[in-house]
This record gives sequence, C-alpha cells and structure tokens, in this order.
Amino acid sequence: HVYSDEEVRKLIKDDNVRFLRLMFTDLFGTIKNVEIPISQLDKLLENKIMFDGSSIDGFVRIEESDMYLYPDMSTWMVFPWGAEHGKVARVICDVYTSDRKPFEGDPRNNLIRVLKDMKAAGYTDFNIGPEPEFFLFKMDENAKPTTKLNDQGSYFDMAPMDLGENCRRDIVLELEDMGFEIEAAHHEVAPGQHEIDFKYADALEAADNIQTFKLVVRTVARKYGLHATFMPKPLAGINGSGMHLNMSLFNKSGNTFYDAKGELELSDSAYHFLGGILKHARSFTAICNPIVNSYKRLVPGFEAPVYVAWSGSNRSPLIRVPSSRGVSTRLELRSVDPAANPYLAIAAVLEAGLDGIRNEIKPEESVDRNIYRMDESEREDNNITNLPDTLHNALKDLAKDQVMRDAMGKHLYQSFFEAKNLEYDAYRQQVSEWEREQYLELY
Ligand code: ADP
Ligand code: GLU
Ligand code: MG
Ligand code: MG
Repeated sequence: HVYSDEEVRKLIKDDNVRFLRLMFTDLFGTIKNVEIPISQLDKLLENKIMFDGSSIDGFVRIEESDMYLYPDMSTWMVFPWGAEHGKVARVICDVYTSDRKPFEGDPRNNLIRVLKDMKAAGYTDFNIGPEPEFFLFKMDENAKPTTKLNDQGSYFDMAPMDLGENCRRDIVLELEDMGFEIEAAHHEVAPGQHEIDFKYADALEAADNIQTFKLVVRTVARKYGLHATFMPKPLAGINGSGMHLNMSLFNKSGNTFYDAKGELELSDSAYHFLGGILKHARSFTAICNPIVNSYKRLVPGFEAPVYVAWSGSNRSPLIRVPSSRGVSTRLELRSVDPAANPYLAIAAVLEAGLDGIRNEIKPEESVDRNIYRMDESEREDNNITNLPDTLHNALKDLAKDQVMRDAMGKHLYQSFFEAKNLEYDAYRQQVSEWEREQYLELY
C-alpha cells in the first residue's frame, strides 16, 4: 500500500514517530541510511532530500555527486524499539540523479527496471521466499565479535542446547511487530547457526525485506551480547550459511509454475524457467556469491551446492523442486548466500529464468541420485557441470554472459566487475595461516 501524505502524517502521530530513517542499498549490498527528524517530512515528500553520491561505494564520481532520495511510501515500517524519545520509522528510497532521473547505479532501481521486463512478458509477480541463515557469535568485553560460538546445538535442537533461542525468539517478535509474517524459526545444522523463514513476497518487497531482516537480526543480537553474521562460511569444517531462494512466477490467474497435467505437476513455463536458471547458473554465481569467502561454502559435504543440476527429490543439487504444489509450486535455488546484494541477485535470477521462457530452453534431465557419490566421468555422462570454484572464475563466467550483464545494467556491471576483481586480487596476495602451517617447516 502506498500511503498518501495525509495517511503518513496520521501514522506519524498515532505511532509517536520522531525520526525517519531513509534507507537505500549500495553496490555491495550494504544498507546505507540517513536519519531525518519529522520536521523534514515535507522535504522528503517533495523528493527534495539530497546526499553526496560520491561517498557511496559503486555510485558516482565527485563531479556528479548530488543525488536525491525519492521515498517509496509503500515501504513505511515503524521500528519497535527506541520508544523513549519517540519512535523511528524506516522508508526505503530510490536514488535519483541531479537531473531527476532514476540513477542506474542504484541496485533497487535496476530491479524495478528488470521487473518491467517481466510485466511486459505477461507476469504480475516474481515471488521470492528467502531462507537466510546466520551465525551468532559471542562478543568480547570491547563489544568486538569473537569466533566463539554461543552454543553447541544442531538442527531443530531446543534449549538448553540452543542458547540462541531467546535471542531468536526476540528477533521473531520484533519482525512480527514490523509486519513480517514469520513461517518458521529454528536452529540450523551447525553449532551457533540459525534460520528464520518469512513469507514470500513479490521481488522488490522480498529484497527490501531481506535488507530489513538483516538489520533487525544484528540489532537484536547485540542486545544479547551476540554478534550475528551473514558471512557465508565463518568457520571451516562445519556448514556455511546460505540464503536459498524459493521462486515462482505469477500472472493474473495465479501460479504459472503449476500444471496439474504436467510432468511432476510442473508447467512448461516452470521447465523453461528452470532451463534458463541452469543455463546461466555459472554466470550469475558472481552476483549471488559475491565475496571471496562465498566459495569456501560451495564445497562438497556441507549441504551447499557444487554442481549445476536439479532434482525433484533430493537436496544436493543447485535447484530443488519442493514437494508442495498448487499455489506453493516453486523452484528452490540453493546456491545463493546471504552476502549477495538481494536486489542484484533477484534481478539476475529473474532475467535468467525469463531468458529460459523466451527461448523455451529445455532443462537437462533431473538428477535424483546423490551427485556427491558420482565420480567425474559419471557426472560428465549426465552433463553435470560445476559451479565456479573461486570469485575469480565466477567473474570470468559473468563477463562472458551478455544476458547476465544486461540483468545488472552497464553501470552496475562495470562497477561490480572492477571492484570484485580488485577484491580477489587483494585476497590473492595474502599469505594465510594454513600456508605457513603447511609449508614453513617443510620447505
Ligand atoms: P525448505 O523446504 O527448504 O525447508 P522452507 O519451508 O524453509 O523450505 O521455506 C519455504 C519458503 O518458500 C518460505 O519462505 C515460503 O514463504 C516460500 N514459498 C512458499 N510458496 C512460495 C511460492 N509460490 N513462491 C515463492 N516462495 C514460496
Ligand atoms: N546451510 C546449508 C547451506 O549452506 C543449507 C542447509 C539447509 O538445507 O537448510 O546452504
Ligand atoms: Mg536452512
Ligand atoms: Mg531450503
């Protein structure tokens, strides 16, 4: 719902809101925000709030630094905390240039652009149900995060094993107060690891929700003296954190992935969408797994995907088709991790799927055996390829795929490609503890 100016004024009064937090997201998925007192409300509603774009990663050069924030009033939400001096509301904004055009380097604007392609193709919603996983680590006396886990629990454990339980419940309550519909919250497989699932929403709202979710998780964890991290693989040897995306395309009559008469009760568009995802999977990996550390998660043995394949039954492949049908018919993409910029990741997978639909790309046969038990030649016989194994190789695959580059738009692609190559290069020049342990005495 887009609130009218009158409605906003009423909401502010009813909820005793004193500050407005204007949020947007930079190239790397980091939430940026500026807080204004409500005395500045008129300025906001007239799209007159300015900021210096040259100070934001991946935005613009000094010469064109004046940018505007245009509020998207459908994103109005009141944070449940900090009521002492009045509450804080958040509004997500789109970034506009000084000549009042949507700024191409704004990942949210880019998703809005890609969603227009989807609407032109006859669809109304790209529904996304994300499953973000995260770790809770203890903090030291200086409030710095340590790598000490706060519990030794495992999948679906309960207290007292699961010390994160109170913290997690508090997170759920805060999110519900903000209007999130939480479907499940549980301890994950690794010690100190948790997952909270919220109801699917159309792409833009889902991406906004992911950003807000991360902010709330970190804020509440801090109150418990814990540090919440969405780093994909904080500790070697145990599961990393993914952010599986459940995806479906709706039109006016409902979920287009469902067809009672289709094979596995999936429609042709579901198969073509799947074909597009498989075709572009290696190229969108850099976008969905954007940091050096992401590739330490995409290894065998920890429930994260390594191979490009799909299955209607088992969990090991890149794409799983969960068993629910009807309105819940969906594809689950399991490679994405929570370090991804959700606006960029969702735009990329949507374009990949739409490319499959436009070109009627047929997916390979499903693989219902455990791929990790196949050897290389068996995988070759089944046309199963690997996901890229480093950020460097992922970037090379992205560079070769014009459809995925177009999904980011020129501005975002160029800044992303440049920044990520620098990141990989900086990493490549480091010498790790592991290397010294292995080689210092041996050579
Ligand atoms: P898993 O089977 O991996 O455990 P979960 O039950 O944890 O999956 O998560 C299911 C997610 O899928 C939820 O976020 C839910 O809202 C979402 N979902 C359900 N139906 C759809 C749909 N039609 N399109 C997209 N997401 C959906
Ligand atoms: N933590 C696993 C991952 O890295 C996923 C576990 C699950 O299936 O929920 O993707
Ligand atoms: Mg999980
Ligand atoms: Mg899942």
